[in-house]
Amino acid sequence: MSLPFKPGQDPAENLAEIKKRISQSATACGRRPSDVSLIAVTKRQPLHKIHALLQAGHRVFGENRLQEAQDKWPDIRDQTPGLELHMIGALQTNKVREALRLFDVIHTLDRLKLARRLADELAHVDRPVELFVQVNTGEESQKSGIMPSDLDQFIAQCRKDYQLNLTGLMCLPPVNEEPALHFALLRDMAARNGLTQLSMGMSSDFEKAITFGATHVRVGTLLMGERKEIAAD
Ligand SMILES: *Cc1c(COP(=O)(O)O)cnc(C)c1O
Repeated sequence: MSLPFKPGQDPAENLAEIKKRISQSATACGRRPSDVSLIAVTKRQPLHKIHALLQAGHRVFGENRLQEAQDKWPDIRDQTPGLELHMIGALQTNKVREALRLFDVIHTLDRLKLARRLADELAHVDRPVELFVQVNTGEESQKSGIMPSDLDQFIAQCRKDYQLNLTGLMCLPPVNEEPALHFALLRDMAARNGLTQLSMGMSSDFEKAITFGATHVRVGTLLMGERKEIAAD
């Protein structure tokens, strides 16, 4: 695995370096670089950095709050063919309709009530939307996600009761644990449920995630530098 690098000021340069590292990690374990999608996580980043990435040809972006995404992305989306937007934060049930107007992929299906609402609303959406189930691999009480022991039944219910066509699994490993264990767990849970896509790996561990089969890595600070603090509200 290559040495970590400090992101520079220019998001386009960071993008080139990260893409190179994605290719190297994929190739090193016999995977195709094109099987790994880089989601640029733009939450609390200034617009000029987003534009620098767009200018460099990047089209895949992630946000974790619907409101913030609605402030930023509709205009860009209208002007940018091929844009792909990923919702990677918690989704409120009463915001599903709005979220489906903006996002192409939801990474945070984490409860049956949300599954039911997604199924209802997706019936009125005429473009493909992909769904990932978020798994709480570290079984942390403050984190959302389905517990590993409940996952197989949850997936079965989503499929049988709501006819949801699931795409894959997503996890956010605990900050102070070795992420590899969580990546391996997610990979195995996906395989036994017939799911091919894995959303895992962030700035600090995306290369490792790729060796465990990540198909979607979510990278923010390494691309664009530190984020603004959350505004107190
Ligand atoms: C913010 C965020 C990321 C990106 O984290 P970085 O460490 O900045 O790369 C990835 N996934 C989720 C769910 C996030 O909220």
